[in-house]
Amino acid sequence: MIPSEIIKQKRNGKEISHAEIKDFINDYLSGEIPEYQMSALLMAIFFKGMTDSEISALVDVMLNSGERMDFTHASNYVADKHSTGGVGDKVSIILGPLLAAAGISVPMLSGRSLGHTGGTLDKLETIPGFKVDISLNDFREQVDSIGIAMIGQTKDICPADRRMYALRDVTGTVESIPLISGSIMSKKIAEGIQGLVLDVKTGNGAFMKNIDDARKLGNTLKMIGKSFNINTDTVYTSMDQPLGRTAGLWCEVQESIDGLKGNGPEDTMQVTFELGAKLLIQAGLSKTKSEAFSLQNDLIRNGDAYNKFIEMVEYQGGNSQDIENYNKLHKPKFSNSLKAEESGYIQSIDTYKIGLSTIELGCGRKKTTDNVDSTAGIQFYKKIGDKINVGDIILEYFNSDENKLLAAKMLLKDCYQIGEEKVKHQLILN
Ligand code: URA
Repeated sequence: MIPSEIIKQKRNGKEISHAEIKDFINDYLSGEIPEYQMSALLMAIFFKGMTDSEISALVDVMLNSGERMDFTHASNYVADKHSTGGVGDKVSIILGPLLAAAGISVPMLSGRSLGHTGGTLDKLETIPGFKVDISLNDFREQVDSIGIAMIGQTKDICPADRRMYALRDVTGTVESIPLISGSIMSKKIAEGIQGLVLDVKTGNGAFMKNIDDARKLGNTLKMIGKSFNINTDTVYTSMDQPLGRTAGLWCEVQESIDGLKGNGPEDTMQVTFELGAKLLIQAGLSKTKSEAFSLQNDLIRNGDAYNKFIEMVEYQGGNSQDIENYNKLHKPKFSNSLKAEESGYIQSIDTYKIGLSTIELGCGRKKTTDNVDSTAGIQFYKKIGDKINVGDIILEYFNSDENKLLAAKMLLKDCYQIGEEKVKHQLILN
């Protein structure tokens, strides 16, 4: 195989075979194909797309680049959720323990920040001592014993996704249906799950900017799930504004703890419960959506979901005292606020730019070797439809690097559009 010929073939919109995809990815993993050739192929896929059979081949090769978990011995229903990528999306940190408290086993593999969107793994790593790179044996043992583990792609599971995901993040090749589908589904199938719910995001802060593209992505993800015998449901949710009250690293963990303790923001909890309901119904633990909503409310109210989170944190090397005293940790050194220059109602929010500003603040990476800043993030005081007066604080942003704070300021200053009309924001788009 001559790598440049495969790249040219894809660049010219021709189909590449299963064998060619396999050789290309395997040679990339072994170091024979350099980053620049993989970057070029990713860019060609970005522009030319892939047929269903190419996508199935991509999933198959990525999946088989590592090990595959097996939970057929489990008596619980084994399931997971995944989001196609959002800003302020901390749902996994709330939903994972909530589902485990309900009796579903959750072997969750999460990703780092990608493009302008945040990554669950980067957020979890801000918990002092919390290990996200445990061995597969320990991972399996933890899921069997407490019903949940949340880790990253280890070198054993989907190494192809781990490498390609990091490369896509810094080469402008994220927003592609085949690449997103391959990335998500290879990880999820490798988990050995029976059920999956996908939060397919759409809007100006999502990779799919409109509902038609989001549905194409959702249908591709479902097509793959079906061919691997995984019960796959989708929920379409809006990313026309950040989810919840914060976007960033430790601040999102804090907000997730609030959610688990019953003080979560309404939008975040609604998305959490919508997704949770799909899996509770799949698992046969609830018959209807309203039954599933009240079960989830009960598990939050009686402390079971929060206790499950603490159990997971301790199992993975963290400390319950740090969670209890979450306000004392990761205090940012610098902060600033954005104030309204006119009165009216918030009409729209440029969520993509908000996401980019979180990268500037230090929540994401400009190159694969960048370190992130646990203290960095944004707190939102106003969302779409809210009334605002001149001088009101719209948002606060913070981190521990003053130069980066300034860079974020330039992006944040025109993210909000204010007008006279009170507009409504629709969160769930099913
Ligand atoms: N989540 C993933 O795991 N991969 C993507 O490509 C996008 C979202």
